[in-house]
Amino acid sequence: MKVYKFGGASVNSIDRIKNIANILRSENDKILVVISAMGKTTNALEKVAEAFYKGENEEALRLFDLIKQTHVNTLKYLVTRGWKKATEELANFFTEVEWLLHDKAVRDFNYYYDQIVCVGELLSTSILSSFLQEEKITNKWMDVRDIFRTDDNFRDAAIDWKFTEQRINELVLPGFEQSNLIITQGFIGATDENESTTLGREGSDYTAAVFANMLDASSLTIWKDVEGVMNADPKEFKDATYIPALSYDEVIEMAYYGAQVIHPKTIKPVENKNIPLYVKCFLQPESSGTLITRTHVHDLPPIKVLKQAQVLLKFSSTDFSFVGEKPVSRLYEIFAELKIKPNLMQSTAISILCCMDDVPEKIEKLALAASALFDVQLEKKLTLLTIRHYTPGLVTELTKDKTIVLEQKTEDTIQVLMR
Ligand code: ASP
Ligand code: MG
Repeated sequence: MKVYKFGGASVNSIDRIKNIANILRSENDKILVVISAMGKTTNALEKVAEAFYKGENEEALRLFDLIKQTHVNTLKYLVTRGWKKATEELANFFTEVEWLLHDKAVRDFNYYYDQIVCVGELLSTSILSSFLQEEKITNKWMDVRDIFRTDDNFRDAAIDWKFTEQRINELVLPGFEQSNLIITQGFIGATDENESTTLGREGSDYTAAVFANMLDASSLTIWKDVEGVMNADPKEFKDATYIPALSYDEVIEMAYYGAQVIHPKTIKPVENKNIPLYVKCFLQPESSGTLITRTHVHDLPPIKVLKQAQVLLKFSSTDFSFVGEKPVSRLYEIFAELKIKPNLMQSTAISILCCMDDVPEKIEKLALAASALFDVQLEKKLTLLTIRHYTPGLVTELTKDKTIVLEQKTEDTIQVLMR
């Protein structure tokens, strides 16, 4: 049994949906397929949620209508014989959201966000499943919210592993007795009160990895629009090349430093069961892509990650005393409360330097909370460069014309914060 994950770009158009069907048609194995929302649907749904929460119900409905149109049009081009049934399925999801959009918000934003945003994945999978049926590719559509039980930490929900594993045994395994192909959603789940939840942006990779783990899959394949994992973002580095083999360790480090390869949470579930992870291009299914396993790979090219829009915060003691454990641990508590993950930290005698993504609401709250303990200074618009397997020559080349604000290195990784 294998697990496949197709991201938003792979279900973005009529042709791309047909392309998925072509990939699946030639398979003989049992496959569980995890799908994201079409293209930029999640972003569009976020706008719907925001308008709704501001009390702009009309605007929310108008924005949602645009999303509806896109999906209905896509379906129209793909499904004719089963059109009526397929349209009804979409309509049911539309109605669920529209009911809500007529209401007034009485709970917190994150709750509504999840109730609205989750529909993106339900729609894309419903369309794909109907199209496969039309093409006589037998498949079973499943609502992952019946399977993935989570807590109610909306927008960043944590999976209840035990319950979810039990549901996989109760629903997914019998499902495979009916069909070799199961189509389901990434990114979403539900609480024990049947409220929809989401697992954090780009969370579909993680869903797929959890399925692979619990199903003891023989492999997980993440299908993308690039050849495989690259050593840098080709939009930023012209000489970026793709890497045929990597270890889980390397990928987890890359993801940690911000490489947009795979969601950072994806690796642990597959690593724990030693499940090979392929990253392949859905436009060239025959090419081998990148294979990620436990095997350590020698002689990797330097791996470069650039993070723009960084903020450097300097927390200094207010009275020139050393920065001791107490204020430091309080600072970490504030990070946890605000769900802030610093990208780089360094302490000196009387101050702590901390680099993070520029999320203005969070920075503001952080600066305010920390000002009770420290004198806080801040600088914006910085760039954080991380290089794994660096050479001094490469560091010099990539930092020329820049002022280095902060630098940290280990034997295999260097991080440079630049102005
Ligand atoms: N559709 C969700 C997002 O855009 C989840 C995913 O694509 O993995 O974040
Ligand atoms: Mg996506």
